[in-house]
Amino acid sequence: MSDCIFCKIAAGELPSEMVYQDERVVAFKDIRPVAPVHILIIPRKHIPDLTAITEEDAELIGHLHLVAVKVARELGLADRGFRLVNNCKQEGGQVIYHLHYHLLGGRQLRNLC
Ligand code: AMP
Ligand code: ZN
Repeated sequence: MSDCIFCKIAAGELPSEMVYQDERVVAFKDIRPVAPVHILIIPRKHIPDLTAITEEDAELIGHLHLVAVKVARELGLADRGFRLVNNCKQEGGQVIYHLHYHLLGGRQLRNLC
């Protein structure tokens, strides 16, 4: 998707503070962090939102979860705990329509919504 901001970040066409990347998944710091650790984890593949995943994406989504845990471990969150969040569509609070998970941690998290 040529006009998608997260596709551009994944392609290195827009700047980001990248903390992990491989051939399928990219993780970078959120520009407006709401916790001491706030990382966005995205597939390189343009999937607009969570409802758009298919059976074909099952391995990709599993891999993305493994990356989330790896990043959490590297940032010292694996023992303390963290939150992995997907905002899906309008009522879920989604603003950017390229599938992404928020990895949040580094302090006690309370309210879920
Ligand atoms: P969501 O509401 O789940 O769609 O979250 C979108 C997130 O993307 C927000 O937390 C924004 O702060 C973040 N964001 C928007 N633009 C950028 C960017 N260029 N680099 C890093 N994070 C961004
Ligand atoms: Zn995209």
